[in-house]
Amino acid sequence: MITITGLNKYFGDHHVLKDVNLEIHKGEVVVVIGPSGSGKSTLLRCINYLEVFQKGSIVIDGEQVGGNALTGKMTRLEERRLNKLRQRLGMVFQSFNLFPHKSVIENIMMAPMDLKKLSKDQAHAKAEALLKQVGLEEKADVMPSSLSGGQKQRIAIARALAMEPDVMLFDEPTSALDPEMVSEVLKVMADLAATGMTMVIVTHEMGFARQIADRIVFMEDGCLASQGTSEEIFAQGPETRVGAFVNKIY
Ligand code: ADP
Ligand code: MG
Repeated sequence: MITITGLNKYFGDHHVLKDVNLEIHKGEVVVVIGPSGSGKSTLLRCINYLEVFQKGSIVIDGEQVGGNALTGKMTRLEERRLNKLRQRLGMVFQSFNLFPHKSVIENIMMAPMDLKKLSKDQAHAKAEALLKQVGLEEKADVMPSSLSGGQKQRIAIARALAMEPDVMLFDEPTSALDPEMVSEVLKVMADLAATGMTMVIVTHEMGFARQIADRIVFMEDGCLASQGTSEEIFAQGPETRVGAFVNKIY
């Protein structure tokens, strides 16, 4: 589904992704772990081209991500192609980024109406189904400000799903939440994984990672330092870098 080959990313002189190679298969749940500053967010942001990268390639279902490698400049045709490609990737961030002046259901309906040209009725029906999926059908008409953090994040997930993405990318979706709200969001994500959604998840929730991941990828200092199945990674002793990392925060 996603093939990342020889990916290198610099911020000025700062080399933040160093020859990253990664394959993500359809239906796979890949959890990315690693210390703060190791390049996890940058990797996700390169996948949907929120960041320009200097070397290497990212191919999503046969489509190349990106424009001119050095400048990031794109022709109008490339831009249109990239926008289409982006619609196939759902992204959920640490901060929920809901539109504050729109009701919950309007937040979910907007992109499908604007970008997929769904009618209002179609978008409404879809949004209702998604609200049910994340367990918040009774919140359709409230404003985001009246929701808890956990509820906001569940709405953000529903909003991303409304575009029917092929892949969902999550960047520390529970890091900004009060501890008592973490599990409700993780449950929505686990339910989603059970539907066969392809997911790439950056998280520090090691118990969740262990439970949900088909594969765990450990990043350190811009490198993909090791990867393996959840069993393989958690079997690593504390003498290995990844073992030390997962044991310290698990
Ligand atoms: P992580 O998500 O693993 O904590 P990031 O991908 O956010 O790491 O950051 C990787 C490195 O890139 C860090 O050293 C960070 O300071 C740097 N970095 C991230 N974003 C920018 C930016 N917009 N400009 C300059 N440096 C950045
Ligand atoms: Mg990050």
